[in-house]
Formats: sequence, structure tokens, C-alpha cells
Amino acid sequence: MSSLLVADGVLFSAGTVLDADALGIRDGRIVAVGSHRDVRDALGRVDDELDARGGLVTPGFVDAHLHLGGGAVDALRCDLAGANTLDEIDQRIRTFAVGTGAAWVVGGGWDPTLFPPSGPTAAHLDALVPDRPAFLLDADHHGGWANSAALAAAGIDRATPDPSDGRIERAADGTPSGALREGAMQLVSPHIPPHETADIARALLTVSRSALAAGITGWQEAALGEYAGYPDFSHAYLSLLRDGSLVGRATGAIWVPRNLTSDTIDAFVAACLERARANTAAGFPTRTAKLMLDGIVETRTAHLCHPYPDGSHGLSYFAPELVQQLVPALNAAGVAVHVHALGDAAVHDALDGFAAVPADHRARVRNHIAHLELIAPDDVPRFAELGVTANCQPYWACANALVRQVTLPLLGADRADDLYPFAALRDAGAALAMGSDWPVSTFDPWLGIHVAVTRRPPGEADAEPLGAAHAFPLEAALDAYTRGSADLLGIGAGTLAPGAAADLAIADRDPFTGPSVDIHETRTNATVVAGEVLAL
Ligand SMILES: [Zn+2]
Repeated sequence: MSSLLVADGVLFSAGTVLDADALGIRDGRIVAVGSHRDVRDALGRVDDELDARGGLVTPGFVDAHLHLGGGAVDALRCDLAGANTLDEIDQRIRTFAVGTGAAWVVGGGWDPTLFPPSGPTAAHLDALVPDRPAFLLDADHHGGWANSAALAAAGIDRATPDPSDGRIERAADGTPSGALREGAMQLVSPHIPPHETADIARALLTVSRSALAAGITGWQEAALGEYAGYPDFSHAYLSLLRDGSLVGRATGAIWVPRNLTSDTIDAFVAACLERARANTAAGFPTRTAKLMLDGIVETRTAHLCHPYPDGSHGLSYFAPELVQQLVPALNAAGVAVHVHALGDAAVHDALDGFAAVPADHRARVRNHIAHLELIAPDDVPRFAELGVTANCQPYWACANALVRQVTLPLLGADRADDLYPFAALRDAGAALAMGSDWPVSTFDPWLGIHVAVTRRPPGEADAEPLGAAHAFPLEAALDAYTRGSADLLGIGAGTLAPGAAADLAIADRDPFTGPSVDIHETRTNATVVAGEVLAL
């Protein structure tokens, strides 16, 4: 029995700033919201008091789509994130290779805009790692860079055909150049020696503490399964839950393998249920399947209704007929579906899959589509009609260097106002959730919220907004990132109402009082999970 009084805050809950400056917590739950005096009276005995110093107190942020496990494994590997020049990339790879005795040099995070459209080359990487295989993923995790030893280890040569779900970049004579797109990465991944679960778990704990420090008290691990050289992170989560070290409300989505056919759907659904049962019993709810339907625009792998300049429409990993069998089978078993869809054709296929589910089955789960870079106008109202939550990654919705240099030239500058049509979804009554896709982009919710509100990159107050009509009011962005995501993931927090689990993020200021272009300067000062103030 312990109690906590949070005082002198600006309280935000369920889409609005409350007429209250204090809240009381007992045994992990909110029991009172109101004036300092009323809350003190309601609590009776106060064991602890936390001074919010006039900062905004929100429900804890819930990141509805990230890859903490992926970021944890990246930390064990050669990390190229944030390397802004080719020299820096070369330097980091050389330094890592010299310092590791591992049989393979593995890592990722390189910025694709530093290389030509055909990607980096094996010859370049051979010069840096001449003595063993090396394989490095790009920052989006949709492309890989192999040296000659890695290509040889995977048996990739001129005679190797492109897999159905990916592309081997080649020189004019057909020789693989070293860049592997999407499913072509899977030709190399199985040859990479695995990490020890204990090492992954340790790294996962470290990144989870960074996420908590940013105010994230719950999240969904967006892909539990072997993909792109990453292991299934379930083992690392379960080991942290067993030893009691993981703080925060973790959930996960079980990866749907690309080789699924209509004949293997039943076995997959049964395996999903069995894993979800075991994970949930251990405190890790994973009654969700992750269905990745396409890639990303920048590598021409997002599935588009209108063609790319080369006439292609991108990739579709699962035929619409298969989606319309799989999604109803999962929902009938009580398994929600979390779709990855960037292109409007992929979004359309996903919605057709949800439309194939009987309404009473659909109502028992929370289905969602993440990313949503382009949506055909006729499909926008279907989110609300079909009860599909829009799982938005707001940080991407601005004209950053990648969008200016790569995305818009591929889509056509006239599509700029169509990208990430979040306000259209909201106006059409769609339920909204938010997440970061970390480590693809920062997990700091205040940076994502900044972009959702301004449609400008943080710190670029004078930049042209991307699709200004899709900007959110601050209230709407905060609500989606807290209550919206918590509802989607079935986490019993997300509001500051009496009875709710006491997960809070306390900011260093009240961003409602300053100009919106300064929202990105907001920092999380304190994080509370189940009534405990975390020391991070
Ligand atoms: Zn993702």
C-alpha cells in the first residue's frame, strides 16, 4: 500500500487539458484528480509527492509500432546510424571490424541518400572488410549491403535469380553489385551467426530504459520472428520478464512468414495462438500477427496504385486472395492483425482483407494498419467502417532530406499534399494510434508530435509544411500517442481518470503555452509506471 501525489502539473487526458493541477495514486492506480487540496484529502496518507513544476502531465506515451529488439541487436553490432558522410561510414566499419573477433561483421543504419540509387557496392565494402563476410542493413531495414565474402557465403552470383519479394542490384553484366533489396536480404540472413539470447536481453533492457526515460510506458514490438538477419526477440523478452527486470507494458506482434500459403494458414494460426498463450502467461501479450504487405517508396518497393517513373508498381508480398483468407482466419481465432502498408495499393489490399472478416469477429480484436504513406481517397472512410485503427508514424510526415531528395522525385512533386493523410483519417472518424518505428526514426514522442502538429522537421521553423492540411492540433496528436495507442494495444492505461493504471509522462514545460514550432524542445522530466517514479 503506497501512495503518490503529483502536484503542480498541467493535466492532459482524453484529448483535453483538465481543470485540475494534481492527481493521487494508490497501489499503482489513479484514485483522484483535482486540486492539490482535494487530492491530498482523497488520498489521506501521502507517502510520496512529485512536483511537476508546471509541466504537462500526460498518460504515459504508448509507442504502437517500434522495434526495441532490433535496436538492441543493432547496439551489439556495427552501428552506422547518424553517420553523415561516406568517410564516417568507412571509419566506423573499419574500427568495428578491427575491434571484433566475430566471424561476420554485421550491422546497419547507413543512410541510403549517401549512395547512388543503385546502392553501395561489394567492392567498397571489400576494401573495408577484406578478411571475412560483412553485411550491413540500411537505416530503413529494407536494404542490405554485402561484401564479396558475404555474397559468396550466401551463394549469390550472376546466376542467382531475384527472389519474388526482392531484388538483387546488379552491374550491367548481371554480376550482383552488393546491394540487396527487401526479400533478397533473406538470401544472406540465414548465414549470419546468431547472438546469444542473454546478450540480446541485456541490450534490450538498456534500450527499454531509454524509451522509458522518453516517457514511453508501453509499446508494441512490431515483428516477433526471424527476418532480415534479426532473431525472434520473444526469447529475450521472456528472459527479462522471468527475472523481473523489464519495466513498462510490452506487447508484441508475431511475424507472418513470407512463404505462407493457403495450405499453411491453419497451422500458422494455431502456432500464433500457442505462442500468444505462452507469452501472455509470462506477461507479454502477443495476440497479434504482423502482416507486412509491401516495402517502402524510396526503394520502389512500396505497392502503389500509380506507377513509379520506371513503370513498376512496387512489391506485394501476399496476394490479395491470400490476405482475404489469412485475415479472417486470424480474427476468427481472436488474433488481431497489424499490417505494414506504405503504398496505397497495399493499404487497399489490407482493407479488403479486413472487409472479408465477419463483423462480429472483427469487433473482438483491434486490427490496425501502420505507416500509411499514401491512401486512395475512397479507402479513407473504410478505416472507420471496418473498425481498423490508423497506426501513424508522425515523425515521417515532413519534407525531410529523404522525402525531398528521393520520395517526391519517385512519386511526383504533385503528390506532396497526399502523403501521410492523417487529418483525412481523423475527419473520417478513424481510431488513431501513434508510434515511431524506432530504430528507423527517433522514439522521442515529442519529436513525433512536433511533426504531427507542424508537418515540419524539428528545428526548421521556416520549412514548407508537408501537406499542411493534414496537420493535427496538439490535443489530437497527444491523444493518439497516449489513449489511442493504449486502447489499440489493450493496455489499461492511457487516461488520467480514477481507476486507470498510473502510467504517466511528466514534461519539463507546458507545450500548449508556446508556439507549435517549439514543441520539439519539450523533454520528458519524469516517467511513472504503475505508480512508481522511475529512476532512469
Ligand atoms: Zn516497423
